[in-house]
Amino acid sequence: MYSHKSIQQFLSGIEEQTIDCTSVVKHYLARIEEYRHLNAFIDVFADEALTRAAELDNKKKKGLPCGKLFGVVVGIKDVICYKDHHISAGSAILKGFTSLYSATAIERLLGEDAIIIGNLNCDEFAMGSSNENSAYGNVLNALDPTRVSGGSSGGSAVAVQAGLCMVSLGSDTGGSVRQPADFCGVIGFKPGYGRISRYGLIAYASSFDQIGIFGTNIEDIALLVEIMAGPDEYDSTAARKPVPAFSQLLKDTKKFKIAYFPQSLAHPSLDPEIGMAIRDHLKMLEKEGHTVEPVDFELLDYIVPAYYILTTAEASSNLARYDGVKYGTRTKELVNNLDEFYRKSRSQGFGKEVKRRIMLGTFVLSTGYYDAYYTRAQQVRRRIKEQTDLIFKHFDIIILPTTPAPAFRFGEKSHDAVEMFLADLFTVFANLAGIPAISYPLSKHSNGMPFGIQAMTNQFEELSLLQFSNLSCHPSGTL
Ligand code: GLN
Repeated sequence: MYSHKSIQQFLSGIEEQTIDCTSVVKHYLARIEEYRHLNAFIDVFADEALTRAAELDNKKKKGLPCGKLFGVVVGIKDVICYKDHHISAGSAILKGFTSLYSATAIERLLGEDAIIIGNLNCDEFAMGSSNENSAYGNVLNALDPTRVSGGSSGGSAVAVQAGLCMVSLGSDTGGSVRQPADFCGVIGFKPGYGRISRYGLIAYASSFDQIGIFGTNIEDIALLVEIMAGPDEYDSTAARKPVPAFSQLLKDTKKFKIAYFPQSLAHPSLDPEIGMAIRDHLKMLEKEGHTVEPVDFELLDYIVPAYYILTTAEASSNLARYDGVKYGTRTKELVNNLDEFYRKSRSQGFGKEVKRRIMLGTFVLSTGYYDAYYTRAQQVRRRIKEQTDLIFKHFDIIILPTTPAPAFRFGEKSHDAVEMFLADLFTVFANLAGIPAISYPLSKHSNGMPFGIQAMTNQFEELSLLQFSNLSCHPSGTL
């Protein structure tokens, strides 16, 4: 039976012919079947994955050149386009829709011989923190099925947690890769804004969205970022910066200058066990020769409101295209005019949370409120960015908790939207500032659930973030 340690080790097995792509794909398909109750996958591309595996095995036999991700089994969040495959962003409004093209990130993975095994459940249009907002139902945390997987990329986190694929892709607008990774005991990495093309990623809030990666070790993540990153003629926000060979450079490390915000560790919402574990981790880093210093960051209480004003504003505009004409399912009811047609199609197609956000976003952009909400939130974002730039003049790394508490139970927060929003306190910071961020597993709570810690670097400093994480994080196991 195959058990995934790292892509490198898998590729050695392929090289030494102790395994082949077909048997490994069969292994994952059997596991997906065994763990179907977790509801991680929306679609499994079983036949296609087997055909591709057979083609790859053939290619190998013929001695043809193999890609860097030869046979690597990848799951993708249901917001990333894969040509001729179903995509719905976890929404009823897009049920049955087929991608007309592949995201640049997907093209690059396929170009290196990866195998896409299926698309993964998520909160509708990536809005949520618990995967309770999906038209396909909840994703269960494999460590305790009474608890949430986190969100919005819950399916992507559980797919790696339960060993249903080797690595997976998610999207992170305000923590949707890092928070579910934390809840599931795996690694979640969000590159800085502009590192990976967003072409083919269904938009939630375009100035925040980034494709991110889930894995069980830093090497795998570094390799995937390296392959997917870089300029793209289809996305003008994809930076023209050269992409370092992240996976080759992980071991070239130095001593880091680490900042932490005492306000975050003293925050009333932070579980004391998590606070304690982070303090211990910081002490350990100091012992290992890194510099660790507190930094005052007084904007902490403004980041959640700024995030939710700006992202809902962008979402209200981005989601205008799902009108039953351009995109999306149409109402079957008889209507009297176009306005009623739009209203019915959208009311029937969108779920509750998405409607809430479209209304909130429309409100903050409306005449008379624009300056009071939207403009002010933009000003807060600018100040956050300036303060962050200042911190990175003196430090390499910022450490924050990933989440205030470990995975909660289904229904525990879904009755109170504000409570759910506030739990994004520590993750939205990196998206507001546009910087790379990672969550890696730190410890286990006395309630039995894992939790992680979050590290961030300056924009385009993914390399030092991966190097730092490689030093301080131990590979996480799967089930
Ligand atoms: N929980 C956050 C939200 O609901 C983050 C979502 C995300 O990163 N896609 O907006």
